[in-house]
Amino acid sequence: MTFATLGLIEPLLRSLETLGYQTPTPVQAQAIPAVLAGRDLMAAAQTGTGKTAGFALPLLQLLAMEGPKVTANSVRALILVPTRELAEQVHEAVRQYAENLPLRTYAVYGGVSINPQMMKLRSGVDLLVATPGRLLDLFRQNALKFNQLQTLVLDEADRMLDLGFSEELANIYRALPKKRQTLLFSATFSDDIRLLAGQMLNDPLSIEVSPRNVAANTVKQWIVTVDKKRKPELFVHLMRKGKWKQVLVFAKTRNGVDALVEKLQGLGINADGIHGDKPQATRQRALDRFKLSEVQILVATDVAARGLDIEDLPLVVNFDLPIVAEDYIHRIGRTGRAGSTGEAISLVCADEVNLLSAIEMLTRQTLKRQNEPDFEPEHRVPDTDASGQVIKKPKKPKKPKTSGGGGKRNLGKWVDSGEAAPPEPSIKPVRKVPVFNTGPRKRKP
Ligand code: AMP
Repeated sequence: MTFATLGLIEPLLRSLETLGYQTPTPVQAQAIPAVLAGRDLMAAAQTGTGKTAGFALPLLQLLAMEGPKVTANSVRALILVPTRELAEQVHEAVRQYAENLPLRTYAVYGGVSINPQMMKLRSGVDLLVATPGRLLDLFRQNALKFNQLQTLVLDEADRMLDLGFSEELANIYRALPKKRQTLLFSATFSDDIRLLAGQMLNDPLSIEVSPRNVAANTVKQWIVTVDKKRKPELFVHLMRKGKWKQVLVFAKTRNGVDALVEKLQGLGINADGIHGDKPQATRQRALDRFKLSEVQILVATDVAARGLDIEDLPLVVNFDLPIVAEDYIHRIGRTGRAGSTGEAISLVCADEVNLLSAIEMLTRQTLKRQNEPDFEPEHRVPDTDASGQVIKKPKKPKKPKTSGGGGKRNLGKWVDSGEAAPPEPSIKPVRKVPVFNTGPRKRKP
């Protein structure tokens, strides 16, 4: 199969040739003809499978071939994305695909001045990439009209809901013409997303190129268990041992990002960090330098790193496990993209056992454990498996108190698997992991 047989026009085929795309990926093979035929779409695709081209190519073709010329302050196609970085990235892809077409494209997002965006929108834009909050601001200030809108794309729709954008989406939705084409893309499909799809889509074609909620199989994944306080030390040790060249590291909080970057820089390691507190220009600069291999270690929170496409990224390290299990799939999807292989290593401490279990249940796999000599945790991480169970091992029976016994205290520690089972009580029942709250979260972690 070729892009030509999918019905794409010559100017787009020329752009694809320049970019070196030879064969459509599975999501492209299904989405392109459906979008060209005007269908609504609900598409689940693994990260890095080429979904951006899957919607952008046919969308550009429809804009070039059909409909009236764009008028002042109007927009004919809208792509909504959850973060500024993703807006830049999707727009960059769109710009490359549209190279040989007479179309105006643009991206708007928050964190930067609104005035230049208002100026740019004055003469109308064929295709606009936007984050929901800034789009609404522009609409409310009359910088934007939706009367010409023919297509709406929701990219990473699950993430938009996770970030608490559901109200903004509802407000945008109310402002759009009822008659339009809607394409919904999401790496993972929660029940909330299915509900949203039910409200927004009209007789959608459902595309699922991979089983639900399965992480990219081109990524080799394993975990190292370690005590929380020794994570930075283990990271540096693994980095030196593995001679890591370029690593994207995920930490849970902004403070966590800053602390790790500071520690690495203190050791003379070329590291930088991105998170929601940093100005957009600083984040973009760190990212650009990382892409150019001028920065070796980029430490990020989930929001800042969402959707980043970094060519040939060999390794992702979860310094902390994500709070929302689905973020794990997104994180490791930054490696092993476009057919190459990658590696994802998670440093897991005892506190994180429930997060680990939720990830294993979601991805339906038990992550391989690889212990690092000298870093075996004092607080053992209980065994977990893909059934979502934390396998609690019985506590060591307390030794009867003897006078003057100043031996080591060992309360609350798990019995190692090699140790003999204690006489009483026998094996404790297995405990179900509580369901995680995946409801709306704060916008910036
Ligand atoms: P995406 O999943 O849209 O973020 O795309 C992941 C990466 O795959 C991007 O770097 C794209 O440029 C690249 N890509 C997308 N489609 C193709 C294709 N058909 N052939 C080669 N590379 C592609």
